[in-house]
Amino acid sequence: MEIQSNFIKTIMEEDIKNKKVDGIITRFPPEPNAYLHIGHARAIVTNFELARQFDGYTNLRFDDTNPVKEDSSFVDAIKEDIKWLGYTPNNILFGSDYFEQTYELAVRLIQKGVAYVCDLSQEQVSSYRGTLTEPGKESPYRNRSVEENLLLFKQMRDGKFKDGEKTLRAKIDMSSPNINLRDPVIYRIIHITHHNTGDKWCIYPMYDFAHPLQDSIEGVTHSLCSLEYVDHRVLYDWFVEQCEMPHIPHQYEFGRLNITNTIMSKRYLKQLVEKGVVKGYDDPRMPTLAGLRRRGYTSDSIKSFILSTGLSRINSTVSSEMLENSLRNDLVGKTKRVYAILDPIKLIITNYPDQTEAIDLEYNPENLELGSRILPFGKEVYIERTDFIEEKPNKHWKRLSLGIEVRLMHAYFIKCNEVIYNEDGSIKELLATYDVLTKSGSGFNERKPNGNIHFVEAKTALPATFNLFEPLMVDSDSDRDMMERLNPNSWKTVQGFIEPSVGNTFKGERFQFVREGYFATDYDSKEGNLIFNRIVELKSSYN
Ligand code: ATP
Ligand code: MG
Repeated sequence: MEIQSNFIKTIMEEDIKNKKVDGIITRFPPEPNAYLHIGHARAIVTNFELARQFDGYTNLRFDDTNPVKEDSSFVDAIKEDIKWLGYTPNNILFGSDYFEQTYELAVRLIQKGVAYVCDLSQEQVSSYRGTLTEPGKESPYRNRSVEENLLLFKQMRDGKFKDGEKTLRAKIDMSSPNINLRDPVIYRIIHITHHNTGDKWCIYPMYDFAHPLQDSIEGVTHSLCSLEYVDHRVLYDWFVEQCEMPHIPHQYEFGRLNITNTIMSKRYLKQLVEKGVVKGYDDPRMPTLAGLRRRGYTSDSIKSFILSTGLSRINSTVSSEMLENSLRNDLVGKTKRVYAILDPIKLIITNYPDQTEAIDLEYNPENLELGSRILPFGKEVYIERTDFIEEKPNKHWKRLSLGIEVRLMHAYFIKCNEVIYNEDGSIKELLATYDVLTKSGSGFNERKPNGNIHFVEAKTALPATFNLFEPLMVDSDSDRDMMERLNPNSWKTVQGFIEPSVGNTFKGERFQFVREGYFATDYDSKEGNLIFNRIVELKSSYN
């Protein structure tokens, strides 16, 4: 699937046609302060696919200018996610690679008289900034001499001041209608060990200052970001111009991707992990790429989902059904179709001999390359509890009831004759008889069964744990407190059985469990303790 036409692609085509650029260079700039989520996949796919369309390339640049929240474990996780999506960055870079250059450029701004060291506290800076309707007030430190500013900035670097004691600010316009231009802070003091540069620095550039310079140094032509940066674009251009950067990159903004019943913000995902609401960033319910991967999503299904949502200048909320459908479309012809019983009741076929029978069955009639296996059949089988009801309720009931005949798929017609109960009144097992003439494939057509249900043979069945998921959030109302929106049923575990052919599965392997859904073998699954995650049900519950 190729990236569709969109407004950014059009801009790139024009820029190439008008020789504004020689080629397309993009970058993906995550901050290594959490795991990537599927919203980031929109930014990744967009950057990499667009550059590829024009034979250009994409850099991965970690925006690590805030050491307070960043960590190298996140760097590794982000690299893995991008690789999993099938993309190879042309260069892997860090904002911190440019600290020296960024510092020099800040010095240049001071020398030009467009940056100054300010002693106002963070609170004072905010209150001086004014509001949307009121202009800001100039800092009393705004007119320090170039010499004094150079000295103070050097002392900031040398660690002479405490956190927050001084900042370096751009001298732009305290009455600009765009608040971002009211003398933004461009350097702050943070005495903390940085994951890359250790204790070398105690001053760190702000994103708005560092980002355009990094884009320029790397020769990025189209710097793509989400809509919340629209009002920062003037500032982006201002820094490129004032720093007299030889290469001029341009920023373009696109709408963010949101998904129904899904939290899509690193800050909140981090809280879910830290509060223990989920089992980690790769919890299969999480919208992180690591979570989706563990759940069993394929990278192709994620890419085609992203591409199918298109790209526009407005933020969009897409139904989670679309993501699920994308997985079904990807897996339908690719996976083995096998049998699992998630909520078993034993059914004993009283007139069947004490033996097992081998049914030779291809894995997927739509893809014979997947081969075939032996499905055992015998006197005792497990069927799904929901496939039995004592009294047939109405003509729409196409499953088993007392006195009713159904086909056990690929085997025989069976008729249920008796229910054996536990002391508490629940069903212990069912007694049935089979008709030897009705063997599947024999051409028998004298009667029609009431329906077809699946089974696994009891002696050869392997016990298995199935994790069944619902959305983490009960609604899409991001104004409500996240903790109140948690779905108490988001993770349900059941014990059942699988047919023996599934036994030697490997981690991450995907199956279609007939009538039950698409499943993937969980990372913790092992021989004797098989665990499967339901990725999606077979049919959309929407229809
Ligand atoms: P969040 O807001 O979820 O905490 P972020 O925007 O702070 O994420 P960054 O690491 O700064 O995370 O994101 C890297 C890039 O991914 C940015 O260019 C950002 O615009 C983009 N991005 C993040 N979330 C989305 C989203 N939901 N849809 C599209 N692009 C996104
Ligand atoms: Mg951000």
